[in-house]
Amino acid sequence: MLDINKIREDFPILKREVNGKPLVYFDNAATSQTPQVVIDAIVDYYSTYNANIHRGVHSLSQEATDAYEQARIKIQKHFNAAQSYEIIFTSGTTHSINLVSSGFESLINQGDEVLLSALEHHSNIVPWQMLCEKTGATLKVIPMTQSGELDMAAFAKAVTPKTKLVFVNHVSNALGTVNDIKTIIAKAHSVGAAVLIDGAQATPHIKPDVQALDVDFYVCSAHKICGPTGVGILYGKQEWLDKLPPYQGGGEMIETVTFEKTTYAGLPHKFEAGTPNICGGIATGVGLDYMNSIGFDTIATYENELLTYATEKLIAIDGLKIYGTSKEKTAVISFNVGEIHPYDIGTILDKLGIAVRTGHHCAQPIMDFYKIPGTVRASFSFYNTMEEIDIFVAGLEKAVLMLS
Ligand SMILES: *Cc1c(COP(=O)(O)O)cnc(C)c1O
Repeated sequence: MLDINKIREDFPILKREVNGKPLVYFDNAATSQTPQVVIDAIVDYYSTYNANIHRGVHSLSQEATDAYEQARIKIQKHFNAAQSYEIIFTSGTTHSINLVSSGFESLINQGDEVLLSALEHHSNIVPWQMLCEKTGATLKVIPMTQSGELDMAAFAKAVTPKTKLVFVNHVSNALGTVNDIKTIIAKAHSVGAAVLIDGAQATPHIKPDVQALDVDFYVCSAHKICGPTGVGILYGKQEWLDKLPPYQGGGEMIETVTFEKTTYAGLPHKFEAGTPNICGGIATGVGLDYMNSIGFDTIATYENELLTYATEKLIAIDGLKIYGTSKEKTAVISFNVGEIHPYDIGTILDKLGIAVRTGHHCAQPIMDFYKIPGTVRASFSFYNTMEEIDIFVAGLEKAVLMLS
């Protein structure tokens, strides 16, 4: 059981008002709020042991290095990676994907095929398009169905010996669909293709086991799992990380440098050129500890109750249509009401202190599929309440009345 009152006490921002009303924060799919322990970790870092890592002999540098490397181990344990050096710190999901896609430029040839899903975020589309443009490889799309699920039969057919890479999100940020990544990974591996899973939207709700999944790359952003912005995680299987060339050149990522030749450092430093977001990495570990102290099973059960409750209340509203009705779904509801523009609904809700997202959610192909400009998206987290859903539904009814 989750002690919701105690949890809400942990998030200072939940006490504030917006436009004179208590904040109802339903934009969790865009970024999560930050618990006090994470804020404290950031303040503590800059107040007591701020120093550059990995190269200083002095005590502060040692302390900062230890804390940063401890965070890497926390992340390793959380994802059940075999080795801590299979965890690479990046600046976010987008950076993680670009690191992998640019690395594949040297491993992909004309005539090869790369497969992505119709449910992807732009950040898991554009880098691969750039890769295909540079290499002459062909981009193929796994189609989706009306309920917002991937067409797994079409996927099975699309995988051929030419397939070299498959990229799919674990959970769709626009619709909340949980994809059957285990089946996708196994099928891709049957032809020797590598698989990258975009876990940015799954990690707030699900604790993935990268070894059980046998995934090659799994990426996510700290700011969606109670951590700070500007930190991303890239898990890569050692065999693949060894094959990929470095992404950026600079300090930290070298073993020796002369003007004639540079040799690169081993994992993970090969991919971590320059001074990283030290404080952010440490705070990411604290955020994961916090979520694990609640427990991902507890989080999932509670969020599912929020989802069911909100879905029932919303479908009772005349003319409201929910996009994304897959059986396996996280706590995201994308919807429109009649012909009302999502932006207008979002604006009125904001006046009532309710934060939702409107628009295409960085997933324009999904909106094109449904032939809509965008949706209103309400996304819930474990610190949201049933009462907030009531406030949101009442606000929405008011907005609909004003706009129709
Ligand atoms: C948020 C998100 C991204 C992008 O994450 P950034 O932190 O902006 O790099 C990519 N994919 C999905 C599914 C997301 O939800």
